[in-house]
Amino acid sequence: RFIAFEGGEGAGKSTQARLLAQALRGRGLDVVTTREPGGTLGAEALRALLLDHALNWGPRAEALLFAAARSDHVEQLIEPALASGRWVVCDRFVDSSRAYQGGAGGIGDDDVLALHAIGSGGLLPDLTIMIELDPAAATARAMARDGDAADRIGAKADEYHAAVRDRFALLADQSPGRFARIDGHGSAGDVHDRIMQSLAPMLDS
Ligand code: C5P
Repeated sequence: RFIAFEGGEGAGKSTQARLLAQALRGRGLDVVTTREPGGTLGAEALRALLLDHALNWGPRAEALLFAAARSDHVEQLIEPALASGRWVVCDRFVDSSRAYQGGAGGIGDDDVLALHAIGSGGLLPDLTIMIELDPAAATARAMARDGDAADRIGAKADEYHAAVRDRFALLADQSPGRFARIDGHGSAGDVHDRIMQSLAPMLDS
């Protein structure tokens, strides 16, 4: 099974991915946790380039680099893990590219999906957990966590983050069967409980 976490910065994706992996392991499942951009040596190297704002990537170059990083990640880590029956819990996947580069960056969904088809065979998660949090709470959490994350939020205009959120919401509306929209307010434990409830059908099947 392949589960991805999505949402804006400070939504709590990384914490929740970790808690979910622990819970799944507690049920005896073999779980790999990973993240995007990254997860393999090549993709982590691309991550360092992508997160370096001094390099000033435009949305097209960003979309291509994210697709390249994802391609390596899928080929070398995600697909082999799924093929051997493991669960993969990934912090961000293609829906981030659809929201950031496709929506906020203006590339458009068709082109992002075309790159994803070329790079990663169009692989989609079985379930995408989208954590929703209002912008002020998300910024406060990101600032409490680390200055870099807060700087990244501040480096883009509020409209950019609003466009990301709107596109995430649209994607979730378009594919209600694949997305679980989770209220990200409250304690990490509260949010985790909501996630486990939304996962119950998958765990029982
Ligand atoms: O929040 P996280 O650490 O996962 O995100 C890393 C950074 O990469 C964030 O600043 C996020 O906005 C950015 N990102 C992006 N496009 C993607 C995925 C992540 O701009 N497709």
